[in-house]
Order: sequence, then structure tokens, then C-alpha cells
Amino acid sequence: MCGVFGVYLTEDEDVGFSKLATFAYFGIYSLQHRGQESAGICSYVNGEIVRIANKGLVLDAISKEDIKNLKGKVAISHVRYSTAGDDSFENIQPIVRSSSRFGEVAIVHNGNLTNYHLIRRMLEKNGVNLKCTSDTEVFLGLLDVVEKDNSIASHILDEELIPYLVSVLKLVEGAYSILMIINGKLIAARDPLGFRPLLMGRRKDAIVFASETCAFDIIEADYWREVKPGEITIVDENGIRTYFFSKSQNTKKCIFEHVYFARPDSLIFSEYPYNVRKKMGMELAKEDDVEADIVIPVPDSGMPAAIGYSQYKNIPYEMGLIRNHYIGRTFIAPSQDIRNLSVLMKLNPNKGIIKDKSVVVIDDSIVRGTTSKRIVNLLKEAGAKEVHMRIASPPVIGPCYYGIDTPTKEELMASHMSVEDIRKFIGANSLKYLSLEGLMRSVQDPDSFCDACFTDNYPVEIKL
Ligand code: AMP
Repeated sequence: MCGVFGVYLTEDEDVGFSKLATFAYFGIYSLQHRGQESAGICSYVNGEIVRIANKGLVLDAISKEDIKNLKGKVAISHVRYSTAGDDSFENIQPIVRSSSRFGEVAIVHNGNLTNYHLIRRMLEKNGVNLKCTSDTEVFLGLLDVVEKDNSIASHILDEELIPYLVSVLKLVEGAYSILMIINGKLIAARDPLGFRPLLMGRRKDAIVFASETCAFDIIEADYWREVKPGEITIVDENGIRTYFFSKSQNTKKCIFEHVYFARPDSLIFSEYPYNVRKKMGMELAKEDDVEADIVIPVPDSGMPAAIGYSQYKNIPYEMGLIRNHYIGRTFIAPSQDIRNLSVLMKLNPNKGIIKDKSVVVIDDSIVRGTTSKRIVNLLKEAGAKEVHMRIASPPVIGPCYYGIDTPTKEELMASHMSVEDIRKFIGANSLKYLSLEGLMRSVQDPDSFCDACFTDNYPVEIKL
């Protein structure tokens, strides 16, 4: 769970009046929902990479003073939510390495490699020392040890780079949407199954890349196209060149991006998550015969589905839970006396609308079940007559090995409990999930998605 952003200025070089930095900074600022652990930006000037990176939210991690050092034509930036490796300082992205072949290189990565341990051992045998425990650094480590792969005809400008990159990308397996700075060029690549989104945009003065289009909106860039699965794109002063290191027919785009992860106003995988989520709510309503006075969302994640559900059923949509958006980084440990403090810090039931009502509550997913249990409890304490929990996706039964941060199988409530047992645990009057068929009816081209978290059908093997 990470967000990546990259920019290549096509007009004048930025000499520090901050266009480059502004784009790189605001790009990840709008991708903050994809990772809150750390943030970082790199730029390249005169053969050297400048890196600014710190723990925390973008606003806290990167200061106005820091970004004055970002100069040149090219920058990449990243927000991180660790799915591989711990949250130590070394693992904060962008990751920079000195390469014997290419000098200083930098990378940002969204995804998770499934053969990371194999590759790490192979690199160590070849005398390559890795400083991070995250899987991202192996892309850079491999650049120094692989043989050239000449299977793809490359433009004369890329003859020294593409054969090595193709070798690297043919070795790594799993999910990756990556952006790199190599020799002052901006390079984008996406794994052959296209698990994670990666999009290209343009302004009159820049080519940009991002995990979601909301990062283009904020800097007033236009969405151009997706970086396709199996594609490498190179941007430099000579323009844009595209190569395919794999032409797979089947993609495995992550369905959970549409269920929960991506921002509703972004365009990813050719659809708006808002529209998909609304359809999920409608499909859920079609499959449901409960009678209730109001439909309320768990904000913000359940809102589009609740709107769809309410419109289909013709039951009024109300704001039954009010969210406090100002939760800072400091967390006050909840005292034993105030049982609901940790959930009340975020959500407060709106007694004026809840009291004596039969309520349908909609959320996007249940993972460990703790959120739903607390919400049902709050609504009952606020006087709800009945609480019917509705989930706009099927039960999550399997962990994700391709870049979504989900707990182990044991911690996933639905992996070992029936729907009735979960209902009892959360204390709801009834509980219903959207069916897998209903979920698939909500997206275009359902076969192009990975649904392993709901089905246990993993498209890429995990190698230890
Ligand atoms: P839980 O209490 O573990 O059942 O959490 C469920 C809530 O977490 C739902 O409201 C989801 O919107 C949200 N959620 C779903 N998947 C994730 C995830 N991978 N990381 C963080 N939150 C999530």
C-alpha cells in the first residue's frame, strides 16, 4: 500500500524556484491515503541524487526548507505503508543506491515482490550488499549483476539501459508499479499482470506519472493513459520511448483498489472507484430483503456504496456517524474507563437521527472485525432499534501478497468464522456481505481482476 509519483519537466530546467518540488510534493500529498508511515522525494542534478525523506505524513515529513534543494528536470516521490520490510528509516522511499553501471540511481515502488527472498539470497551470493529490508532495493541491486537481455530491439538512446532493465524485470515476480531515475532519465514500469495502477499524465511543461489520477488533478495535469502491464516507459530530453518486456494477455488488477484503497475521485483501471462502489451498494441492495428506516455509511469508506444501496432500495440515506477529520499523529492511549475512546475519536453516532430507528449500516469490508463491533455497539448505545450491518464486498478470507496491507490468515475473521458467528461477534441484528458475483457485476471486465483476498485463488506463487 503505497503511492508513487514522478515528474519530468519538458521545458526549462528548474533551478530551484520550486516547480519540480511543487509537483513532486503535491503529487504525493494527494496520494496520502495510500500510505501514512513515511514520505520522500528525490531529484537529480549534475549526476547526483538529492533525497529528502522522513517518517510521518507528507506535511510533517517534508519541509518548505527541504524542498528548496530539489532542482533539475526530474523527480520521483513516494508515500509508504509498509507491506514488506519494517518501517525503519532505511526503508523510507525513494531508495537510492550507487550503481557500478549507472552511477547514483533512485527508485519508488508500489506493490510486493513474491520472489524477493530468492532474489535477495542470489544478490548476496554475488556480493551485493543490500541496506534495506524492504523488497524495493533489489531492483537496483540487480541492475549491477544481470547480463544483458537483447530480446527487445531498443532505440539507440537506450541501448545501454534497456537490455539490463529487461533482464531485471524478467527476474522479479509479483506486483510492482515502479518509477526510477537512472542517468537523469525518468523510467516507469509495471509488472506483466498489472496488479497496481500506474498512470501517465501531461501538462504543457511536464510529463507526470502517478498511482492515481487525483495526483494529476491537484497539479492541473491531464490524464493521458495507463502505463500498460509489462511496459517500460523512458522519458528524457529526447522525448518518450516505450518498450514491452512482456505481453501477457491476462491482467490481474487488484479488485481491492476499487473496494477500499483508491480515492473515489481517481480514475484507475479505466473506471472511477466511486462509480464502482456505488454499483457494489446497488448489487448489495438487490441481494438484500431487510426492511429499515435509514441507510447510513461508515465514513468515509462506506459512503459511495451506501448511496448506491439507498438509491436502489429507496430508503433514506443519512449521516448517522460523524467523522472527526482532525486526528493527529499523537495517539492518547485509551483509558480502561472510556471503553469507546479510540473509536469515538474518529466516529461519533449522530443521536438525532439514530434514536429509535432501524438502521442499515454500510461499510466496504470487514478485516479483523473490531471496527464493525465497535460501530454496532456505538449505534445501539445511541438508541438504534435495530442495527443491520451490510458489507459491500465478500468476506476477506486471504491475506494479500501483492501489496495490500492485510493481516495474517488467522487474524482475518472470515477465514475461520461463519457469517453467523461474525454477526454474533459484532453484535448486529443481521449481517450480510455482497456476493462475489455481485462484486464482479460491479466492475467492467471482471476476469481482468485479482480476487485472491476473497477467493484464495492466488495468481502468482509466493516463493520463500
Ligand atoms: P477491521 O476492524 O479490521 O475489520 O477493519 C475494517 C475497516 O478497515 C473497514 O472500515 C475498512 O474500510 C478498513 N480497511 C479495509 N482494509 C484495510 C486495510 N488493508 N488497511 C487498513 N484499513 C482497512
